[in-house]
Formats: sequence, C-alpha cells, structure tokens
Amino acid sequence: MSSLTRVLYPYGNDNYGVLLHCPETLQTACVDCGDAESTLASLQEKGWSLSDIWVTHHHADHTAGVESLKQATGAKVHGPNRSETPIKSVDHVLTDGDTFDFAGRGVQVIHTPGHTLDMVNFYLPADSVVFTGDTLFTLGCGRLFEGDAPMMWKSLLKLSALPKDTVIYSSHEYTESNAAFALTVDPGNSALRDQADGVKRLRDANKPTVPTTLAMELQTNPFLRADDPGIRSNLAMEHASDAEVFAEIRRRKDSF
Ligand code: ZN
Ligand code: FE
Repeated sequence: MSSLTRVLYPYGNDNYGVLLHCPETLQTACVDCGDAESTLASLQEKGWSLSDIWVTHHHADHTAGVESLKQATGAKVHGPNRSETPIKSVDHVLTDGDTFDFAGRGVQVIHTPGHTLDMVNFYLPADSVVFTGDTLFTLGCGRLFEGDAPMMWKSLLKLSALPKDTVIYSSHEYTESNAAFALTVDPGNSALRDQADGVKRLRDANKPTVPTTLAMELQTNPFLRADDPGIRSNLAMEHASDAEVFAEIRRRKDSF
C-alpha cells in the first residue's frame, strides 16, 4: 500500500485545509471546507477529483463550503451531526471509536470535545497522521466554546496517547502567538525556545507551521504538559490536578 499524498492549502484569514490523495485508487479526501472555491482550486491544480469530505466540527470556517463542494463534486460527507449543532450535508454520521475505509485503509474517529461538543479528529494509523481540527494546534489548543477544561484535557490525553511519530495537521496558523504564550508559562524549556525560533523563521519566510509531530508537541506544547514539574512550579500549582493546571494555562491564554 503506497502512502497518501498530502496537500496543505490556506484559506480565509488563517485556516488550513488538507487534501489526501491515493495514487493507486485515485480517491481524494479533503478535511473540512470553509470555502469551496479554495478547495476546488487546490483540487484543480493537482488534477484530482474529490471522493470524500471529512468534517471535524460545525463552525462555519470548517463547514461553510461543504454543501457547495458536495454539489460540485458528488463527494460523500463524513462528519458529526449533533441535533443542537447540525451539519446538514453530512451523509455518514460519525461517533467516537468508529472506523471507516478510505482508499483501503482504516480511518479512526476520535471524539475530542472541548472546543465544541461535536468535534471529531481523524486518525490514519497506516499513514501515521491525525487531523486534529481545532482541538490540538501546533504549540496550542482550541478555545473552550462549548466544553469545559476537564473535558478538553481528557480529549488532549486521547491525542497524547497516539504513537509519538504521528504527524499532526491542525486547522489554523496560530503558532507564532501560541509560541509567545507558551514561553510565558514554560520559559525554561529549551526545546520550546528552539521551536519558537524555528516557528519565527518559518513565518518570516511565509511558510506554514503545520504539520507538526506528537513527539515535538509533547516536548513543547504547554497544553499537553500540565504534568510538567517546571510548568507547575511556574504556576505555583505543584499540588493541583493535571486538569486544574490545564484549566489555568487555558485561562491565561484566553487573556494573553
Ligand atoms: Zn472551530
Ligand atoms: Fe476553526
């Protein structure tokens, strides 16, 4: 089985979409679609036709283009569909632990509520890649719009448990601001300082900081490091639970 070709493309203010293409079956999936024009332009540039649309959550910057993209391509839409926050174009409703097929490999559905309650992430073990939507960003995590901190911490633990060489695609270019914030809670972390320098070089060259890897995030992303003694000591929270430390880091980021 040959590996999938991945294409990252920007849209909107700071969103990223991804195309996944199988050179053998010629199937192509896209992750989210806030803007059908951008997705169609990327498909056209590669000469690929879309077979599947994977939706992470109901926010408009991830779904506004889904219906017209579906109409234009005939692709099948896989995604969550909570009655409170419906995504009306969804053909295949996903829940936690589901596995579905794409181009002969399994796509595992990981429910990661917190940013929204419907959030799902897509993990492809055969390709060592996960699409984390607005749950886990490079050096950051999503804001808690619908869930609470203990819920999000639990969701991040699910992602942290994936193999360390997993490649992580998230949906926004927020990394420079995330790096600046991360240094305020974890200034003694030399891996983080190096990563912040690397991020600045990439952004100065107008290059994306997505994807990242789980190994890198476990070393540098404060939202995965609530158990780190250095961070706990900086926050004077040595005796708090990991979820409480996570909540404090998230609270500080909200007002950063
Ligand atoms: Zn969102
Ligand atoms: Fe978003």
